[in-house]
Amino acid sequence: MPNHPDVMEKLVSLCKRRGFVFQSSEIYGGTGAVWDYGPLGVELKRNLQDRWWKAMVRQRDDIEGLDTAILMHPRVWEASGHIGGFVDPLVDCSNCKKRFRADDPKIKGTPGEPDAQCPACGMKGTLSAPRLFNLMFKTFMGPVEDSAATIYLRPETAQGTYVNFLNVQQSTRQRIPFGIAQIGKAFRNEITPGNFIFRTREFEQMEMQFFVEPGSDMKWFEYWKEQRMKWHQGLGLAHDRLQFHQHSADELAHYARAAFDVQFDFGGSLGFQEIEGIHNRGDFDLTQHQKFSGKKLEYFDHAANKRYVPFVVETAVGPNRTLLAILVNGYREENVEGETEGRTVLGLSPALAPIKAGVFPLVKKDGMPEMAHKIADDLRNVFPVFYDDSGAIGRRYRRQDEIGTPFCITVDGESTTADTVTVRDRDSLLQERIATDKLREYIGQRIAE
Ligand code: ATP
Repeated sequence: MPNHPDVMEKLVSLCKRRGFVFQSSEIYGGTGAVWDYGPLGVELKRNLQDRWWKAMVRQRDDIEGLDTAILMHPRVWEASGHIGGFVDPLVDCSNCKKRFRADDPKIKGTPGEPDAQCPACGMKGTLSAPRLFNLMFKTFMGPVEDSAATIYLRPETAQGTYVNFLNVQQSTRQRIPFGIAQIGKAFRNEITPGNFIFRTREFEQMEMQFFVEPGSDMKWFEYWKEQRMKWHQGLGLAHDRLQFHQHSADELAHYARAAFDVQFDFGGSLGFQEIEGIHNRGDFDLTQHQKFSGKKLEYFDHAANKRYVPFVVETAVGPNRTLLAILVNGYREENVEGETEGRTVLGLSPALAPIKAGVFPLVKKDGMPEMAHKIADDLRNVFPVFYDDSGAIGRRYRRQDEIGTPFCITVDGESTTADTVTVRDRDSLLQERIATDKLREYIGQRIAE
């Protein structure tokens, strides 16, 4: 098993220094496990979300997009099992951060006492006393703060999709098998959050529910497993850092027929962790909503002249956690041949990089800044670029390497007469001379790869 170094501490500092991720409400001392995305972070996250949307919705005729509200009818959470299921007495281990039901037979000793032993990491005295815990954030709707007005912030986007299953199917006239995808915020009052943006209390999900005829579910489950792994590989995540983890019988949710996680090796002690879950949920969700709402959520198959409640294969991935994987995967420090100063590089795939090109005049005279400004303004119409004329050219290259900018365009003495510029590749460090009027095409092609 590869043992990648732990780069988390260095990344947290780079993310703050360069404007990827800031602690929420930092000037007040921060909010627990909540983070804000800075100018570069928001671009990177958006590129990631757009890529998912394109692969899951735009490029397919069998998946529809949806955007449902965060606040839903409270009965939704009774039907989904989040209200009943999320208020168990739980204990957590301060060492390995795992959480257990207080009545877990694998716990030896009394939780909260020094004799108690964590069933996962085996440490003694690290288990908290049992406490009732509901992962959902609760608030009130309207002016009266009583139990009748209680409402929850959704802990997943999927339920908004289930309750809209027929609205989407009927308005689009989709036939099974088809899917519904959405990207949106989710909130979980995690008791063991941490590892930077890995596990937070406010995060986003990109979830797709694929509705299939019962009996064809395992075929579709295998299909989606393969598709989703390919998608992660396409982000540029190293193949040896990705693996599947199959849920064993005691990990499986009671309604799930099969579940696999896509795991990424975050390095150090965190190691392989889930970034996406692929679940065969059977007909559990639609059946529950039928029961609790009293409304039928059946599909009518015209060709076969039969009605049924479809099964669901779900793919659920977090853009925040995947963004962390992308940063961890891309971070490297290296020496450059012939130079004394090393460099820090974020080896992001050009398609995801927040800034596609740095544009520099070699010196601030002889018409070079004017020409560089003109190039930057032109390119800015198609993708984000950054104009920089401050400091030595080597420094300017380093600043772009550190934020993952794949190309640096330099206007030099030859440029103003020959109408050409140099384009430096972040990874190979090779410089090519390109005609100014070919720049859009050249970079456009490289970032589409
Ligand atoms: P975990 O076991 O890590 O808590 P989960 O199995 O509860 O995750 P799902 O409910 O399957 O996660 O959610 C799908 C995806 O949403 C996860 O793979 C992860 O990328 C993301 N996700 C879930 N919880 C969080 C969180 N607290 N912070 C950031 N991302 C999260």
